[in-house]
Amino acid sequence: MSRAAITKHRMFYDPSYPAEIEQSPRQVEMVQKYNRDILDGTLSMEEVPCLCGSTEFDLVATYDRNRAYQPIVLCRNCGLMQCQPRHTAETNHWFYSSDYYRDTYKPGGFKVPTKEEFLAQAESRSALRERALRGLDPARIKTVAEIGCANGINLYGFHQMGKEVFGCDLSPAMVEMGQSMGMNLQVGSLETLGDRKFDLIILSHVLEHMRDPVGEIRRILRHLEDEGALYIEVPDARAFFLTALQAAHLYYFTPRTLIHYLAPLGIAPVSESDADQIHFGIVFKRTETPPTSGLAGEYEMLRKLITTVDRRDRLRDVLVRCHLLPLARFIRRMFNR
Ligand SMILES: [Zn+2]
Repeated sequence: MSRAAITKHRMFYDPSYPAEIEQSPRQVEMVQKYNRDILDGTLSMEEVPCLCGSTEFDLVATYDRNRAYQPIVLCRNCGLMQCQPRHTAETNHWFYSSDYYRDTYKPGGFKVPTKEEFLAQAESRSALRERALRGLDPARIKTVAEIGCANGINLYGFHQMGKEVFGCDLSPAMVEMGQSMGMNLQVGSLETLGDRKFDLIILSHVLEHMRDPVGEIRRILRHLEDEGALYIEVPDARAFFLTALQAAHLYYFTPRTLIHYLAPLGIAPVSESDADQIHFGIVFKRTETPPTSGLAGEYEMLRKLITTVDRRDRLRDVLVRCHLLPLARFIRRMFNR
């Protein structure tokens, strides 16, 4: 584990992992091996300063939702939550290429969807399409690319609208599945875009996995037409709860931190939407006057929010241990009437 001058202040103790997080025996075994490999250095970790340059953090949790060893911290300067220490590039490569991530994500492990499952799921993605086009003129969007497209499920609606779509993903099985639906998908990352430019580029549930999110967006912007738009959808750090914490998510943005960190690239939000209760999406376009509002108060806001969640979880845990949770829920319903 490499050592930078990182200071971690304990904010609250690790949650007690309520039984609601179910794991199959196979998952438990995989996570235990992972923890051994992290702690004995077989899988390497690194400590890096925050995107703001600060090395002062509050420790939020030591284990992720799968009980995998992953300290998660809150930057005391800017309020950006992040993994610290985090996977080195080498560990990260293993993490995704070994299918450990996809296999431990769900109790049943990773499966490529059938065509029928794909078509059923594609219907439900029309909402994402609307969010990605919010504030834009859909008629002017002729070409759409998605980085980390899995099997192209988000692109399929655009494909049906007659847009020219392109997607890339690191999973050969998922890309092959999407290709069988008639879409132009390739195995790989940004290099698969060549020197092409697009009217709309989508990153859905991708940026939070990136080791260098700002640098990655800078590279992606080279593939955006001058009047093009970039749609980014990520987990919302304001929706803090235990099951949202995972070793795969290196950064936990809020709309404010995302806009702040991408502003130096010369982009600003055109529209912002709540994807659901725990994710938000922002459409960005180039601008001459990027926002410069700073992040004052962001750390305090998140610290307060996390502390409140911690107190609630502790109370619930006590109620569960004393077999009083059903009674407490009954009383709350009575008061909420
Ligand atoms: Zn920071």
